[in-house]
Amino acid sequence: MQVYLPLSVLMIRACHALQDKFQIEIMKTFFTTIGNLFKKPATIPFPAAATYKPDDYRGLIVFDESLCIWCRRCETVCPPGAIVFSQNITDGKQTYHYSPYVCIYCQECVRTCPKQGCLIQSAEPGHPATKEHDVNNVWNKLFADSLESRVVYAAEKKKQQAAAKANPQS
Ligand code: SF4
Ligand code: SF4
Repeated sequence: MQVYLPLSVLMIRACHALQDKFQIEIMKTFFTTIGNLFKKPATIPFPAAATYKPDDYRGLIVFDESLCIWCRRCETVCPPGAIVFSQNITDGKQTYHYSPYVCIYCQECVRTCPKQGCLIQSAEPGHPATKEHDVNNVWNKLFADSLESRVVYAAEKKKQQAAAKANPQS
């Protein structure tokens, strides 16, 4: 009996200590919760408010036609096919087409462009395509038509060169 008494006293004290600690933690949580009710939210209520944008944010691609040498490297490296050039069959003039809905903002076109400033990655965020944009059909058709226009122009040019060779006097 004498052996067990101090042990039971120790256990009771330990229980009291634990109980006190538990109560303190509960009180702390309670006051933290009450305090949070009067604080501003820690998160941004996106999309109602603008979100944080890093300095090197990759947004929409901007094209400066006056600097372009029409090498089409940007079209070649673009992973999803967001850039394509069409060609006028009469004078061979090329036209740049870009889809902000297909672009993945990877910056490959900017990196590969030999003319600095011709393609710039702006900080303007892209906007999600809606059903009305019909991206798959509209862009895919424009892309296919543009490639076709180049084939037609190349064939026409070849024909003209052959005709000029056959009749150098004309
Ligand atoms: S940023 Fe990437 S996906 Fe967008 S046009 Fe340039 S290469 Fe294509
Ligand atoms: S890579 Fe640059 S210079 Fe070449 S076609 Fe594209 S935008 Fe023009």
